[in-house]
Amino acid sequence: MILSYNLESFEYDVYALLTSFYPGVESKQCIAEKAMESMDELHVHQNDDSSVSMFFFAGDVFDSDKEYVFRPSSTDEREVKWELKRFFYDSLADMSGRTLPWGGLTGVRPTKLIMGTAKEQGLSDEGVIRYMYDNYRVSEEKAALGLKIARLEDSLLEPHRGRGYGLYIGIPFCPSRCLYCSFLAYAIGAYQKYVSEYLECIRMELEAMRGIMKGEGPDTIYIGGGTPTALSEDELGVLLDLIEENVPMDKVKEFTVEAGRPDSLNAGKFAVMKEHKVSRISVNPQTFKDETLELIGRRHSVAQLYDAFEQARAEGFDNINMDLILGLPGEDLNDVEHTLKCVRELAPDSLTVHSLAIKRASRMKEWIAQHGAISGMDYERAMKIASDTAAALDMRPYYLYRQKNMAGALENTGFAREGKYGLYNIIIMEEVQSIYAIGAGTVSKKVFTDGSGRIERCDTHKDLSLYLSDIQAMIERKRRLFGNEE
Ligand code: SF4
Repeated sequence: MILSYNLESFEYDVYALLTSFYPGVESKQCIAEKAMESMDELHVHQNDDSSVSMFFFAGDVFDSDKEYVFRPSSTDEREVKWELKRFFYDSLADMSGRTLPWGGLTGVRPTKLIMGTAKEQGLSDEGVIRYMYDNYRVSEEKAALGLKIARLEDSLLEPHRGRGYGLYIGIPFCPSRCLYCSFLAYAIGAYQKYVSEYLECIRMELEAMRGIMKGEGPDTIYIGGGTPTALSEDELGVLLDLIEENVPMDKVKEFTVEAGRPDSLNAGKFAVMKEHKVSRISVNPQTFKDETLELIGRRHSVAQLYDAFEQARAEGFDNINMDLILGLPGEDLNDVEHTLKCVRELAPDSLTVHSLAIKRASRMKEWIAQHGAISGMDYERAMKIASDTAAALDMRPYYLYRQKNMAGALENTGFAREGKYGLYNIIIMEEVQSIYAIGAGTVSKKVFTDGSGRIERCDTHKDLSLYLSDIQAMIERKRRLFGNEE
């Protein structure tokens, strides 16, 4: 399918909506003046009178030829942009006979938008839901979900809004690379020789942070990656000692370690984490189907997941999260039902349900090129099975975010039991507090507290060797970001 356009400022929005309505269809962009290369073509054109035309041409994807013409009713650039998005959305909905649960919203933080709207405009719940449909075509169900989560988040975030900070430490090693992974994840077998040097850089970063943050400690600590527990028991101990030695812990409300991969876990590592006061861990199945785990390259079995979960409980962890992915290759609704039945038996304290997102940096793209598109399931039904299971486990939805190219154009939702909400997750999503991020491929974020809503960021090298060799420069970037007064 070819998307032709000459509206460069709206390129991303047009493209994102098109691929949401027609998932799995390879789209190629070209300038409008170019000759048509196939009959599967959507043509977006800015007319001389500044109206916009969309033409659909018959072919394998589009089944008729139609023209839709848009004339803006406003002169305000921001409003025109949204009018245009609504026009694209309505045209594509008419053409495909479908609607999308989140309408024309393409951003990753719908709850931030919903809460902002509710506060700025002083709207009632019904008013917000109506506003989200009128302006963004968000379905009533999703707007209500977003609003419910936004209100809960708002109360949880109150003590952290505009003060304090979160500390993130990235460990870019994993037992193997999953098919869908787009994170920084070096297979530890081949990269073991870099681990001690990496931990030395973490030590340097932590020591510098103490000065840069003037001895103030964080509210939350999150060790992610990668899989931090891909480190050996001794290395994990070294990392946690470094944190204890350098980070003032008096304000820390939550200390999370992504113990994601069951093939990286054993009773000794849980004991080390417990000893160092880690309060929350993630043990991630993604699915309870062995064939799928093998296909997606996770190199662990369902049996290993059960063992890891039991070891964690035996060590006294009472805040265990599980991540699941809906829409993995070869899975159908029966597999989703089975996975959620197993989750119910194990009864974790929180559950994060992802819809599969096909990322450019993952091996999934190549897999699809070789094996064909992943056959779709009824994603809304799958999400309902997950949310019903969460409700049966006394959990409620507490955070939500979206990604590009998500299966079913849905969302990722975190569910948790009362008191087991992942505070760091909400803080990073709603951008109410600064994040000091340490390690390769991480992004620090300074949220200004002067009421301007300004946010500034600095990153570190994604390439491991570059990060190791350029560590002083990485520290300096953070000194510049956090060291100055506002
Ligand atoms: S465990 Fe996570 S970070 Fe590691 S390879 Fe798999 S998806 Fe990537």
